Amino acid sequence: MNRRREPRIVIVGSINMDLVTQVPHLPQPGETLTGSSFATCPGGKGANQAVAVARLGGRSILIGRVGDDAFGSQLLRGLRHEGVDTRNVHVVPKTSSGVAIIGVEKSGQNAITVVSGANACLCPKDIRAAESVIASADAVLLQLEIPLDTAREAILMAQKHEVFTVLDPAPVPPRGLPRNWRSLNIDIITPNETEAAALGRKPCTHDKAAVACLESLLMDSVAAIAVLKRGRRGALLHAFLKPAFFPPFPVKAIDTTAAGDAFSAALTLHFSEGHGTLGEAIHFANAAGALATTRRGAQTAMPTRREVNELIRQHPYQP
Ligand code: ADP
Repeated sequence: MNRRREPRIVIVGSINMDLVTQVPHLPQPGETLTGSSFATCPGGKGANQAVAVARLGGRSILIGRVGDDAFGSQLLRGLRHEGVDTRNVHVVPKTSSGVAIIGVEKSGQNAITVVSGANACLCPKDIRAAESVIASADAVLLQLEIPLDTAREAILMAQKHEVFTVLDPAPVPPRGLPRNWRSLNIDIITPNETEAAALGRKPCTHDKAAVACLESLLMDSVAAIAVLKRGRRGALLHAFLKPAFFPPFPVKAIDTTAAGDAFSAALTLHFSEGHGTLGEAIHFANAAGALATTRRGAQTAMPTRREVNELIRQHPYQP
């Protein structure tokens, strides 16, 4: 791994515009409702993680696609404003940008329709075209809101150039990961509890069950190391040696949207900096995830390096 102060993190993933409406109740078939508010919020796991890496001080290079609509230009502008390198984000002609249409009722219950749009056009050949970008990265970070073959191609490309790989397996495909993902040996996989339960085919609730679930997940050799995101319970590291639990940071959580994105981005960045242990990187990620829960929204909630360092100063890592 190339160890510099400012690692180059290549994020291969989705870019969406979230269209959020507040509604009195979720609509029934055929019903027309009057909502009380509407907001457009930049999202998509790839874009969220790219913004997190940039705010945390890494060189953030995003490989993705937007549509040739107004959302596409708005999303690109927003990413550039955050310092994300978008030279590998191309506009797909005659295609809409990815959108998530979200209705939220008073109780917090929501209904979400996701349209992949341009994200579905990110093909394996686009990854091959970006070989030099991947080859010069310190790490490649992926999620699964893009075609699975494309994500797999990016992992293989990174491995060909001995670049560190991190997979946030979100969302888990309805029938799990395809057979050709077994033995891929990604360096680190970072599921949340729902994703780990789906991949490990075991419940992932209490401590003992979580360890067993990660063992089952690691048996497929999709990844060498699993770091489980446990929401308000913190995180769990397992790599077939002694599992290690990381307690959560004490914060006042108000909105957990994209906390997992902050966590995976922070873990990848800190580990790529090469000056600490994996335990320290998980502590850093735990702090970034916790801070993301203290603000509303996805990209807007991503913490800065200074904020994470300050939280860690108050709660230092204790191996
Ligand atoms: P996801 O957003 O993928 O569902 P989680 O909800 O597990 O992921 O959150 C990701 C990480 O954010 C957790 O592992 C933890 O580090 C942090 N986090 C989430 N919720 C809280 C909370 N209530 N208090 C402290 N940290 C939290």
